[in-house]
Amino acid sequence: MEVNFCITCGSKMESRDVDGTVRKACTSCSYVHWGNYSIGVGALVMKEDKLLLVRRAQEPGKGYWTNPGGYIEQLEPIEETIRREVQEECGVEAVVKSIVALRDQPRGIHNIYIAFDMDYASGEPTPDGVEVDAAGFFSLEEMEAMNVAGFTRWLVDVAYGARSEGLLQDANPVVPLNGYGLFRA
Ligand SMILES: [Zn+2]
Repeated sequence: MEVNFCITCGSKMESRDVDGTVRKACTSCSYVHWGNYSIGVGALVMKEDKLLLVRRAQEPGKGYWTNPGGYIEQLEPIEETIRREVQEECGVEAVVKSIVALRDQPRGIHNIYIAFDMDYASGEPTPDGVEVDAAGFFSLEEMEAMNVAGFTRWLVDVAYGARSEGLLQDANPVVPLNGYGLFRA
């Protein structure tokens, strides 16, 4: 897709060398069109060896069981987004413990999906009736008889497999960097 006008200030874009690569850049402000990206987040919430799953009530994936999740918002911190998505979809309060998986999809809109290991805090799984029409904590045995989406099955394997201790959020970084979510591997 050609980007002719700046999405920040509306001025004309030009092709310009930016750090050794020709990119579309604004002629009057600092905006550079790096590309099209989207970032999804997913929650793996475990309670007594059972994993929180929801059944999709909408396309894509209507009727399939998945872990709760969604897309990040422009100005919302990522750990708040995933906590909110879990709460909105099925009424469960959970807090981010660590990142356990990352999915990278380089394509027209480059998508990155980040899976969080989350600690269950409170609430009984209750479907929102809009995005999802069923919700609950399920064991591996119970999941065998359920219509679990393919990617979710991979995440289930991650959730029950050897858990990474990597990519923990650094709440007190040695250098204060405002506006950054910093994760240690
Ligand atoms: Zn501009």
